[in-house]
Amino acid sequence: MPARILDGESIAASIRAEVAAELNQFAAAGIRPGVAVVLVGKDVASEIYVRGKLKSCEEMGIYSETHRPAENVTTERLLKLIGAFNRRDDIDGILVQLPLPPQVDTMRVLLAVDPAKDVDGFHPLNFGLLSKNQPALVPCTAAGIIEILERSRIRVDGAEAVVVGRSEIVGRPTAMMLLNRHATVAICHSHTRDLAGHCRRADILISAVGKPGFIDINYVKEGATVIDVGITRISDRATFDRFFKGNARREKSFAAKGSTLIGDVHPEVAVIAGAITPVPGGVGPLTVAMLLVNLLKACRMRRGSSVVSLQPSAPGSR
Ligand code: NDP
Repeated sequence: MPARILDGESIAASIRAEVAAELNQFAAAGIRPGVAVVLVGKDVASEIYVRGKLKSCEEMGIYSETHRPAENVTTERLLKLIGAFNRRDDIDGILVQLPLPPQVDTMRVLLAVDPAKDVDGFHPLNFGLLSKNQPALVPCTAAGIIEILERSRIRVDGAEAVVVGRSEIVGRPTAMMLLNRHATVAICHSHTRDLAGHCRRADILISAVGKPGFIDINYVKEGATVIDVGITRISDRATFDRFFKGNARREKSFAAKGSTLIGDVHPEVAVIAGAITPVPGGVGPLTVAMLLVNLLKACRMRRGSSVVSLQPSAPGSR
């Protein structure tokens, strides 16, 4: 039986509806959440990510402002800018788009963000709170993965979970959130011996590597839930054919756009997995939706309890 498709678009739409309802509560209390974005230089990928984040904030009526320091900006200048956002009461979230240019001390800049406004969840204090299973602002992709699992009623408690990738923004926080929900968690990386053997033990397999089609059927236990975080754009015909030859829908969009997106998981895995997230339309939409959730959470935590959460509390905390 082909795998159940875990539709990230529809889960993200439900979350956005909950966010909209909660924003009405904020409005009734006279509060409009606000976010400040720092985008240094003219990196094309960063521009696209920031545009996506801002668009979804604007659609929700969230106040946003973008600051675009030049490529040659100094660490001191960025620290001043962030200090000003930290002091402003109308700004609930601060997003510093990475990567920053090489002359900038990225760690100092990220540490300067008030942890209470750290809606990306990158501050070490928030990671520390997460690892102590205390309420925290957690990285959006990790939080989004948990939403997919919980809203799809996939049992995490007691499950064998394998996370491939140990980055600070995806792999590590995802593993921590699974552990906090009582999964038995293994984190794999480029030095892991017998990666396929580890992966085949997983009831829940999460891949955040960034290599197209890397996880093939040899890595997946029959019936497992597979969450594909990786996103790679492919534009050469030979690679396209290797993964999608004969797939009419993909052929059509590849012909129109000259490229297509693929995850870490080989399309053949859908034949043996129990449930799987597609790329595009799986984890990606959740990452943006969870930024909105984090922003409301930051606003609620900082501006007091005059606004009530409409969201059911998750089993376990963060
Ligand atoms: P990083 O490059 O920071 O991390 C990649 C991880 O994969 C590293 O831990 C690395 O191991 C591991 N890895 C690389 N090669 C292998 C291998 N052969 N075997 C096992 N492990 C390996 O990437 P990110 O975590 O930032 O992102 C991962 C992917 O997820 C990318 O495609 C990115 O675009 C995508 N992404 C998607 C998001 C979404 O919303 N869907 C959001 C964020 C990212 P080691 O540590 O040993 O080097």
